[in-house]
Amino acid sequence: MAILVTGGAGFIGSNFVLDWLAQSKEPVINLDKLTYAGNLGNLVSLEGNSSHVFVQGDIGDRSLVSRLLVEYKPRAILNFAAESHVDRSIHGPGEFIQTNIQGTFNLLECTREYWLNLDEQAKCNFRLLHVSTDEVYGTLSPDAPAFTEEHAYEPNSPYSASKAASDHLVRAWHHTYGLPVLTTNCSNNYGPYHFPEKLIPLMIVNALAGKPLPVYGDGMQIRDWLYVKDHCSAIRRVLSAGHVGETYNVGGWNEMPNIEIVKTVCTILDQLRPKPDGSSYDTQICYVQDRPGHDRRYAIDARKIERELGWKPEETFETGIYKTIRWYLDNPQWVQDVQSGDYREWVGKQYGSV
Ligand code: NAD
Repeated sequence: MAILVTGGAGFIGSNFVLDWLAQSKEPVINLDKLTYAGNLGNLVSLEGNSSHVFVQGDIGDRSLVSRLLVEYKPRAILNFAAESHVDRSIHGPGEFIQTNIQGTFNLLECTREYWLNLDEQAKCNFRLLHVSTDEVYGTLSPDAPAFTEEHAYEPNSPYSASKAASDHLVRAWHHTYGLPVLTTNCSNNYGPYHFPEKLIPLMIVNALAGKPLPVYGDGMQIRDWLYVKDHCSAIRRVLSAGHVGETYNVGGWNEMPNIEIVKTVCTILDQLRPKPDGSSYDTQICYVQDRPGHDRRYAIDARKIERELGWKPEETFETGIYKTIRWYLDNPQWVQDVQSGDYREWVGKQYGSV
């Protein structure tokens, strides 16, 4: 038995692979293209672990994906592979269409062919779990109820539209071909190994480097936040107990405006790594032009997964953000390594300074 994880060198995928192998001997075949966001440095602790097989490649490569399925005969596929950054999708949507839509389509077709050839028992037990986002639901007004699984899809960015399309393909492959799929739609994750183009790690690394902390618009965009290891436990739970064909919203009941997140990061850094001049890191906050089409609010109603599968997050935002900041302070080499090349070029383009 084995599982195939796609995108397992990225932020959530690598946390998932590490968590999985900490709890199970069942091998993980990790297929990742190693784009700018894929980092084998996240997986160094697995060196020499024969239960982790890393394969560099594209989910859109039909012959490669088919060969891996035949060779390793996974009992499940977990699809984390994606282009995931909204800002990048605005500047260059092509790769989002290619990986998130075309790549998912290819993965579904290869999986269908493989699944059809399994014996009846293996066919019955097989699952394809597609990892998606709350951004597919679009934006919420301030007093609207949080997104349930019944909420209409209204994606607003090229990223969320491409993820929405992939969710629809996954759904259709179940309804049309009977493929045993599961989909999770999760809110914003944070935690170790998060590439510092995203809000929380960007604020931590910029604060420590004495650089500006760029906040979009008025900073009042609201997101729900979930510690990445809680997302991983939700995915394990859905894989083992989720009902085939269903989708599960995953969230932390932690709605917060971006500016409050940034101020919290500053306050914790003030305690853990006080600045020599005694000033607060929040003096580095600066407001920059808002992202075009920026959704104002996302909120996840996670009652279905709690009620039906008995899942609950372990971390509160207070404990999770503290652990996250501690991790960044304890891993300066990882931070230094990811801040080279593509990262510097991108941040320079985005904010005009590196
Ligand atoms: P990430 O950008 O950190 O990692 C994506 C990984 O996929 C990288 O390792 C990259 O190399 C790999 N990849 C990209 N294109 C590929 C391709 N064509 N073939 C194979 N591998 C490829 O993303 P993440 O934040 O870890 O997100 C993982 C998944 O979870 C995505 O599907 C994303 O939409 C979803 N999600 C993310 C969040 C979040 O807050 N980060 C929240 C909800 C859902």
